[in-house]
Amino acid sequence: MKPKVAFFDFTSCEGCQLDALNLDVGEVLGLLGAVDIVNFREVKTDRSDDYDIAFIEGSITKESEIPRLQAIRNQAKVLVALGACACTGGVNCLKNAYSSDELLKGVYGECASFYNTIPARPVNAVVPVDYYIRGCPPTTAEFVKVVKALLLGKRPDLPNYPVCTEC
Ligand code: SF4
Repeated sequence: MKPKVAFFDFTSCEGCQLDALNLDVGEVLGLLGAVDIVNFREVKTDRSDDYDIAFIEGSITKESEIPRLQAIRNQAKVLVALGACACTGGVNCLKNAYSSDELLKGVYGECASFYNTIPARPVNAVVPVDYYIRGCPPTTAEFVKVVKALLLGKRPDLPNYPVCTEC
């Protein structure tokens, strides 16, 4: 049976997912043949809560994202943090230098009360992470390498260094 793969975005620019889509035709056909993609909001509307491998894009910046991420962790056998925002908090951590009030009023003005924000944090500040694909965005080659390793039941061999500034 093919592993079921899901992609989830939290607070992010979605560039990591776009980059994951930026595969050449041969790679796409190879990967699509080996996995079932059951959640990928940018490319399909069908969704399933039954998946084995979850790729998480983005950092956690809202209370509501915490239970959502925990539910994904409970379901996924393997959870991969995809990109600098997920791995380290990324550019979203810039907001941590300001109070929630300052930020919300500066960005949303009078609508600020509709938003509930918390300091930006990486995925592993909320749930355990199995693998990290670093970069802003990660390279397509590293993404493919991780997917192939997971399909073979191997530990992905990736450099453990940040490309972007950590917060
Ligand atoms: Fe966008 Fe970079 Fe964050 Fe990926 S890591 S979501 S490309 S800002």
